[in-house]
Amino acid sequence: MADAAGASCERCGQPIADGQLWRYVPVWSPAGGALGRAARRRMHVECIALMTVGHDFGVCSCTGWDTSAWESALELVKRMRDRPRFALGGKIDE
Ligand SMILES: [Zn+2]
Ligand SMILES: [Zn+2]
Repeated sequence: MADAAGASCERCGQPIADGQLWRYVPVWSPAGGALGRAARRRMHVECIALMTVGHDFGVCSCTGWDTSAWESALELVKRMRDRPRFALGGKIDE
């Protein structure tokens, strides 16, 4: 995954630092016709977590959080750490 060097997260817009975890996420766009077209978006794993389990931790648009903000992702990580069984990969640094 060396091609992430110097790149930014396509969710929060923040740079992806060396050693930070990220994944490509397929995002469906209606531009490709009836079935749509999948585009790959590079995102922090924290930002992906925010999109998927943010609601369960009270960090989502329902509770007024900006789900595309890095600050929200950090708040989610903080709340996940308080519930260790949900920790990302089980190793979030203090
Ligand atoms: Zn991000
Ligand atoms: Zn919600």
